Amino acid sequence: MQFIDLRKAELGAGFTIGRALPTRERRMIGAWCFLDHLGPVDLRNHDGMHVQAHPHTCLQTFTWMIEGEILHRDSLGSEQLVKPGQVNLMTAGRGIAHTEDSLPGERLHAAQLWIALPAKYAEVQPAFDHYPQLPQWSRNNIEMTLLAGEFQSVVAPTRVYSPLVEPGGEALHMSLSEGTRCLLIGGEPFPSRISMWWNFVGHTREYIYQAYQDWQSDSDRFPLVPGASIKLPSPPPPASFSAS
Ligand code: MN
Repeated sequence: MQFIDLRKAELGAGFTIGRALPTRERRMIGAWCFLDHLGPVDLRNHDGMHVQAHPHTCLQTFTWMIEGEILHRDSLGSEQLVKPGQVNLMTAGRGIAHTEDSLPGERLHAAQLWIALPAKYAEVQPAFDHYPQLPQWSRNNIEMTLLAGEFQSVVAPTRVYSPLVEPGGEALHMSLSEGTRCLLIGGEPFPSRISMWWNFVGHTREYIYQAYQDWQSDSDRFPLVPGASIKLPSPPPPASFSAS
């Protein structure tokens, strides 16, 4: 049994999130390589979350909305609101850029995760999928939603590239107080080491350095996000990433 304390991280001015992955104690769980707990934030005295255009590579971003709404726009031209209970899944593949803006409301509460792409899918065409409804059922007074992968005989429609959720099928015992919300993630151990820098994931450091250069030089690898006027600059990777 391993307990990981959430690391507080700043996501834009005054917007603090709790980061569970990656941490010193654990880098990945299956293919999941990033887990942010966003909020809950009282939006009535807050500007909300506004993340300017930024790139991703070799991963999928997975947004599960609990309260509030976030508008996603990306360089494929997708524009999609994600509402409570729904999932937005963006497959970066060889490269994509997006913006995320919460809409005015009372509260904002979500989980944002990244799923690393296995080496043979690292260069897939970028894609965006919205899942307005996911399999839901109720058992022992617990309401369950299957966000991705398979559980017992239920299969989620979510586009994924690795076996996710409980491949071992072992029992998990938990005592929960009323109203508790749990996010269960799992998956087969990821078959290779990945590197991460800023918003880039890659199977080699050189790949990440190239992605950094492509983003900074406005390469057509990362087309513009329609309507976005500001591009977030990437901090330069450490010198060890550029060695070849
Ligand atoms: Mn992003």
